Amino acid sequence: MAYLTLKNINKIYPNGFHAVHNFNLEIEKGEFVVFVGPSGCGKSTTLRMIAGLEDISNGEFLINGRRANELGPREREIAMVFQSYALYPQMTVYDNIAFGLTLQGVDEDVIEERVNNTARILGLTDYLDRLPRALSGGQRQRVAIGRAIIRKVGVFLMDEPLSNLDAKQRVTMRYEIAQIHRNTGATTIYVTHDQTEAMTLADRIVVMKDGYVQQVGTPYELYFRPANVFVAGFIGEPPMNFIRGTVRNGALKFGDTPLELSRKFADIARYEGKEIVFGFRPEAIHLGAREDAYVLTSRVELTEMLGDNTNVYIHSGEDQAILKVDSHDTPETDVDITFSIPMESVYLFDGENENVIC
Ligand code: ATP
Repeated sequence: MAYLTLKNINKIYPNGFHAVHNFNLEIEKGEFVVFVGPSGCGKSTTLRMIAGLEDISNGEFLINGRRANELGPREREIAMVFQSYALYPQMTVYDNIAFGLTLQGVDEDVIEERVNNTARILGLTDYLDRLPRALSGGQRQRVAIGRAIIRKVGVFLMDEPLSNLDAKQRVTMRYEIAQIHRNTGATTIYVTHDQTEAMTLADRIVVMKDGYVQQVGTPYELYFRPANVFVAGFIGEPPMNFIRGTVRNGALKFGDTPLELSRKFADIARYEGKEIVFGFRPEAIHLGAREDAYVLTSRVELTEMLGDNTNVYIHSGEDQAILKVDSHDTPETDVDITFSIPMESVYLFDGENENVIC
């Protein structure tokens, strides 16, 4: 196991594009860290710099406290699993898993024992003689993981490893990856654009946007204490609802509806005349009018029954919002519903820089 330090890491590609800006992070031994963000935010570039597949333009990368910028990929004792699996098509599962050890000249007996152990962990024992083309996507992904974990390196990198699998396989493999991490204890960095994968797998999540880290925290911290509108909207499914409005006499005006804000937000006077963003999660609301809550009435445009709950699409002023309700309480479309947002479930963001106010 290893610990990693990224100090002010930057990536500027040869064409001048600045893909990663001042990335700072300490990753503890055995920690499972997920880099998450939309396409193009710089997650893979950062991972590839850690793997040694991409030069670090500026900043310092340390493995166990030692500078590693100049080390080649093999010298870093890091194993990587790619989205494409990168299996050798003409080799059996056994040979694919054994490949790294064979190259290192490890004894045949040792290789056999390690391949068998790895195959057992991954449920591949019955497939060792097969070629990759005779495996399902999930099985191929397990071989790719097997090839990485058999090396017993200190750090394990995964770049969107589940993206070629169907929805059901992804859930199963997610569970298996969590189990493998528990069994191996390897420091792991996992890249995904899927917030559910990030929330379920990570000890800590790094949310990125446009090459900048937006927030680093546990899934709990990111969900309950998002630093800005971007993180609040990225973490959680369906995403947090946002209503933009202007503060007038201590109330938030959006459309014709004034919302009295002063009870929760003591320093709201600072925002008098300014735009703020009012945020609430779809699952935080209650149908009907309650005490100590913001009570709103809106027209139902569409409902989506998902099983135990229903997503209800409404309009609040100019903004669309989604409410998550128990499916037994699914309202009719084209009627007005009244709902309450508990005061403590509301987030306010600065309308200009979009950082959280409270
Ligand atoms: P995705 O989820 O789509 O893989 P990502 O967050 O992993 O996205 P990166 O692959 O790290 O994003 O790319 C970050 C940015 O750097 C993108 O805008 C991309 O177009 C750019 N980029 C990547 N490789 C190069 C390159 N070789 N030269 C110039 N720009 C590049």
